[in-house]
Amino acid sequence: MCGIVGYVGTEEAKDIIIDGLRRLEYRGYDSAGIAIVNDGSIIVRKHVGEIINLEKLIGNEKISGNIGIGHTRWATHGAPSDLNSHPHLNEANSIAIVHNGIVENYIELKAMLKEKHNVSFKTETDSEVIAMLIGAYYEGDLKEALLKAVSIIRGAYAIAAVAADNPNELVAHRKDAPLIVGIGKGCNFVASDFSALVKHTDDVYLLENDDTVILTRDSIKILDANEKQVQRTLMHIGWSAEAAEKGGHEHFMMKEILEQPAVVKETIKRRLNEDGIIEFDEIKIGLNELKSFDKIYIVACGTAYHAGLIGRYAIENMVKIPVEVDVASEFRYRNPLVDEKTLFIAISQSGETSDTLAAIKEAKGKGARILSIINVVGSSVARESDDVIYTWAGPEIAVASTKAFITQIVCLHMLSLYMGRLVGTISNRHYEEFISEMLKMPEKIDEVLANRSEIEEYAKDLYSREKVFYIGRGLDSAVCLEGSLKLKEISYINSFAIAAGELKHGTIALMDPDTIVIALATQDKLYEKMLSNIQEVKSRRAHVITITKDKNRSISDSSDETIYIPDCLDELTPLLSVVPLQLFAYYVAKERECNIDKPKNLAKSVTVE
Ligand code: GLU
Repeated sequence: MCGIVGYVGTEEAKDIIIDGLRRLEYRGYDSAGIAIVNDGSIIVRKHVGEIINLEKLIGNEKISGNIGIGHTRWATHGAPSDLNSHPHLNEANSIAIVHNGIVENYIELKAMLKEKHNVSFKTETDSEVIAMLIGAYYEGDLKEALLKAVSIIRGAYAIAAVAADNPNELVAHRKDAPLIVGIGKGCNFVASDFSALVKHTDDVYLLENDDTVILTRDSIKILDANEKQVQRTLMHIGWSAEAAEKGGHEHFMMKEILEQPAVVKETIKRRLNEDGIIEFDEIKIGLNELKSFDKIYIVACGTAYHAGLIGRYAIENMVKIPVEVDVASEFRYRNPLVDEKTLFIAISQSGETSDTLAAIKEAKGKGARILSIINVVGSSVARESDDVIYTWAGPEIAVASTKAFITQIVCLHMLSLYMGRLVGTISNRHYEEFISEMLKMPEKIDEVLANRSEIEEYAKDLYSREKVFYIGRGLDSAVCLEGSLKLKEISYINSFAIAAGELKHGTIALMDPDTIVIALATQDKLYEKMLSNIQEVKSRRAHVITITKDKNRSISDSSDETIYIPDCLDELTPLLSVVPLQLFAYYVAKERECNIDKPKNLAKSVTVE
């Protein structure tokens, strides 16, 4: 997991590449570097830490050249250091490469290169062997040397390479790691994902596994695994450049939290036809197939897994098929009972999550139908799936997911309504009522956001506490998991979410006056049970913040603070109740002076197992 950018054109490559790296920094930020071909040699500048450090290192130095590559790293082999940063060079400093992924047989390849080619290695990375291999095989044709190198590399990789003696050509190759080609005017690009290119082009080719691309400033040649020239699907992305900018906000995370009403509206609107009926262009499952499923698995990681837990309630209620939800890294190793009668739903913001991809392959191998819910168009998960639902949340840059999560929930609701209507498990009236309630949600999310200063005040009072519990029942307990994860991710507080009914079976022992308990009490049928749970923690003198519907004003007597969300259907409360939790995590992290958009040890798209 890391970000790669490559450029060949007529402008200064350095500026374009650094700008692209900044936009990819969410993918990894241990270190960053660039390599620019300049007058028969390659200039490399790299620095440990965030891209700002690289920019400071370069300062006003003039690094001229119209072709180059750049990398922002998430270290797997070798500590983050200046030396281990990419790009890496061959021994003669005549080839530079950047690499995303892992070379699994790098020890063996290192030994071979030392013995046969007398190469001495300077770094601890696996990636350096790629530069050395290409260097050893290079006889004037960079593509040939790259192909020879990848033929003996095992692992996952996206590689981009340039040669000192060829200022016109950039070559790249991918296998199980993302890489796209951006089509510019008088210039062309490669990048790990579209956000790097948002300022320069809207048109991209999505490379398939084992594709090689040879770029000049006015030509793009793509070769498939058999080295045959091929045409890949041209995608028009349609993200505005502004969507990938902070737009005056201090952090992307706040910008993305505030975008939630708009993206929810967009996600719904894109699927409703003029008659108010849900239509999914991207789903091809017919009635007979739908009827043939006897179970559904929802598999995802992190925040997307929490959306899956909410999806389970939606689908079981509307479609009456049993649903199991699993984290992808567990699913694949437990020999799951999957067959042709299984619908497998994968959820991933990036569509590149390695564990989710592996789980899809496992399920596919056993004959399941694969439907995925993803945000990034054309990503690897989309390509592995039979049916795709795009969340249309736009670029999500902050590592901690907010707007992607909320749109995943909307998509799961729409999917369950769609399936329920098709198989006849819900009445027309219920269907119409539910859609009309959903259409009110953007406005209601806006109402929650309008009260954010109240949450900021609570965060200012409580940010130094080190113990935060989230409790809730039913759907609320899934939202609690998400709230707790948000807080952990960006404020590094040791928080914990638990189904409120489980408290008394052990966890209540931890309650004391230093503990904050965030209690969600939004479910009408579970409201009184939650009141009792709140009393239980209150009597252990925990500090309680309750989140409940507007109509439950009396609860304020039992809580230290109460946050009200607008009244709505119980099923739809997660779309509202998660918002104060996101805001609380954000404001606490801000008070603690944490790096909100790029929390330590995390990256946006987790492409390692
Ligand atoms: N395995 C390589 C390294 O540790 C690349 C990691 C990445 O994808 O950023 O340097």
